[in-house]
Amino acid sequence: MKKGKLFVLSGPSGVGKGTLRERALNDIKNLVYSISCTTRKPREGEINGVQYWFVTREKFMEDISLNLFLEYAHVHDDFYGTLRQNVIDELEKGNNVLLEIDVQGALQVKEKMDDAVLIFVAPPSVEELERRLRGRHTESIEAMKTRLTNAVNELSLKDKYDYVIVNDNLDSACEELRKIIL
Ligand code: ADP
Ligand code: 5GP
Repeated sequence: MKKGKLFVLSGPSGVGKGTLRERALNDIKNLVYSISCTTRKPREGEINGVQYWFVTREKFMEDISLNLFLEYAHVHDDFYGTLRQNVIDELEKGNNVLLEIDVQGALQVKEKMDDAVLIFVAPPSVEELERRLRGRHTESIEAMKTRLTNAVNELSLKDKYDYVIVNDNLDSACEELRKIIL
């Protein structure tokens, strides 16, 4: 059976990655999402095993020492990582796998899996990014500041990606993503 392909979606917090991901998972057959582990606390409405596997720092450190992660990174004061085995199993089954991870993680994946396709989602402007992040009402002022500062660093790395999608009009951005994956 033909093996699946690995797609990695990155971009600053609030740019619309989650929105694009949901649309892609609804629209595209044989595309599965790899649920990451994080030490971040669940936001209201988030459920363990749906958005993330929410784990303690101790558990995360243990999984690092057991070499269970394909990649992991320290992002906005917490750890986030992709469990390797689940990704490998899905690819072997012939499914395409979508990761939604930060830039440091994406570059680690590319080093280990050369045929991974890296897709960067960019905002039409930093002002619009801030508007979206504020509009989402999920972060404290402090957390939002950290995310906006990190956004500038992340944007400077977009040239390392195979594709850059500017998420201005949502439908057009979804269509661009669909074309890359299909
Ligand atoms: P991320 O997962 O990158 O942090 P989200 O998907 O949570 O971002 O999107 C952040 C906010 O921006 C959400 O309120 C979402 O509805 C909104 N959003 C996403 N894409 C667009 C777009 N193209 N135009 C306007 N608002 C958008
Ligand atoms: P949030 O806390 O808003 O859900 O995610 C914060 C950041 O962590 C986002 O940029 C998201 O892409 C990134 N992230 C989520 N899961 C992973 C992961 O498994 N690995 C890495 N490196 N980053 C991740």
